[in-house]
Amino acid sequence: MSIRVNKLTKTYGAQTAVNSLSFEINTGEIVGFLGPNGAGKSTTMKILAGYLRPTSGEAFLDEELISVDGVSNKRKLGYLPEHNPLYLEMYVAEYLTYMGELSGLKGKFLKDRVIEIIELVGLGPEKNKKIEQLSKGYRQRVGLAQALIHDPEVLILDEPTTGLDPNQLVEIRNLIKKISKNKTIILSTHIMQEVEALCTKVIVINKGNLVASDSIINLTKNG
Ligand code: ADP
Ligand code: ADP
Repeated sequence: MSIRVNKLTKTYGAQTAVNSLSFEINTGEIVGFLGPNGAGKSTTMKILAGYLRPTSGEAFLDEELISVDGVSNKRKLGYLPEHNPLYLEMYVAEYLTYMGELSGLKGKFLKDRVIEIIELVGLGPEKNKKIEQLSKGYRQRVGLAQALIHDPEVLILDEPTTGLDPNQLVEIRNLIKKISKNKTIILSTHIMQEVEALCTKVIVINKGNLVASDSIINLTKNG
């Protein structure tokens, strides 16, 4: 699936967080959404994920308008928010089952899928623990697992490696690489190295404005 953003604007009172942003992401691309803190990355991603209404402009998944009222677009994409609101009191499998139900899965299919996703993201040794007992790296695996539970074609990952220690960072990057096959991914970060490590394309924003949009090869070639 592809993503198309057309003159997207979001204001909070007098503050313009996103300013007439337009870009396209083709099916199967892994796009780095790069910018400093406050650039408008999270705001854009919340809109793409269908959790925040833009002030003006629109975003599409293929030809379908992304809206906060529609469940259809939410079921086609997986979203890892920046501050993933995990239910700390829940057990790993219990939480993933709950998130799967919210995505429309049920019964034996859901049960099997929870087991499968726990293995896929490397949560096997931690699966009988409560989320509050997990390290930050494992909590981020839980976050990726909930985003992937319904096997969406599109993934929206908001700062997936921020705050991780160097070992966890490498592991989460490798995991993102592993799960990226046959998916369209937009991944926000404030670190160029992260884009170089994971992405095929970069979109740079600053103060809500598009600064550049290019393939990684061209960007590194032109400095
Ligand atoms: P980034 O993810 O790149 O750090 P954000 O999208 O979180 O950027 O924020 C963009 C700008 O919008 C910042 O100046 C931020 O303070 C502001 N902002 C974000 N959310 C809100 C909100 N709910 N109310 C007011 N201002 C907000
Ligand atoms: P997240 O991006 O995961 O929601 P944040 O820490 O960016 O987490 O924001 C926490 C909450 O505060 C969000 O609802 C966000 O929209 C809001 N927020 C962020 N920046 C501002 C701001 N400058 N003024 C008011 N609210 C803000």
